[in-house]
Amino acid sequence: MARALGIDFGGTKILAGVVDTDTGEILSQAKKRTRSEQAGDDIFGRLLDVAREALNASGTARHEVHKIGIGVAGQVDRQKGELIRAPNLPNELLGTAIADRVQNALDLPVTLANDVVAAAAGEAAFGAGKGHPDFVCVFIGTGIGGAIYQAGRPYRGATSTAGELGHMVIDYGGRICGCGGVGHLEAYASRTAIVRTVLGAMRQGRRSSLESVDPNPNPDDPAHSPVRSKALAEAVRTGDALAISMVTNAARYMAAGLVSIINFYNPPRIILGGGVVDAVDLYFDVASALVRQEALQVPGRDVEVVKSGQGDFSGIVGAAVLGNLHA
Ligand SMILES: [Zn+2]
Repeated sequence: MARALGIDFGGTKILAGVVDTDTGEILSQAKKRTRSEQAGDDIFGRLLDVAREALNASGTARHEVHKIGIGVAGQVDRQKGELIRAPNLPNELLGTAIADRVQNALDLPVTLANDVVAAAAGEAAFGAGKGHPDFVCVFIGTGIGGAIYQAGRPYRGATSTAGELGHMVIDYGGRICGCGGVGHLEAYASRTAIVRTVLGAMRQGRRSSLESVDPNPNPDDPAHSPVRSKALAEAVRTGDALAISMVTNAARYMAAGLVSIINFYNPPRIILGGGVVDAVDLYFDVASALVRQEALQVPGRDVEVVKSGQGDFSGIVGAAVLGNLHA
């Protein structure tokens, strides 16, 4: 049985799990928040703690785990195992040899890739991409990431950054994105964007059931608000008008982004995943319905828009199969 440790290193949390890479079954899990409230806390220490916890909890002998894959929320130099750009992660990670450091600490070979590239590998192997050689993956959470599969293989582009559709311009001169760019999709359709607009409206006095979740709304710091995907989902479910309107707005922007992809690239299948899609049905429903109405008729009629097959765990599973054939 082949086993690998998969790590999903996101802007909000670090998830790790030992995965059976023949079946996609997750044998153990561990989780920590990416940002500690304690000053001076070492992000590498947290990463290694999560990794060790998942290894120890799996009931698998250490020698049976043969490699580690890390999917990280940013642009990655895969050859060097380094993070190049990561607007949603602590800056101290940039330019450090993440793969080498983890490899030295845990004595296993490490592959580092973008988190959505990893999640797409998981979808291709065991999820909504299985049996579908051509698809585009879009994961919506703290930020928005994407990946492209062509003929069963990831398409990486000239400089290995293909698929960064969170940073496509949908509003010229619009909101500033976490990457510093202007008018990017991520600034309108990510969970961070939804939370920011909800907190802003609450700050201005609009009533919402989310007041009980975050009594001191600060739209300038959505990353530290207790309003996250599950709280948004609950507010939508109970009919909170503010949450419904902000989620619907964000999903409309996402639809605009997807329409551009469909018109330009004509993919047969789009897989949507990530915390917002998993937790808030309204987001997926609005985005997928609008896509059909607004895309060019021929590519829009035939494209399948589906949810990721593995929910929260596609990142772990995908990271675990990184480095396998076609991943
Ligand atoms: Zn951007």
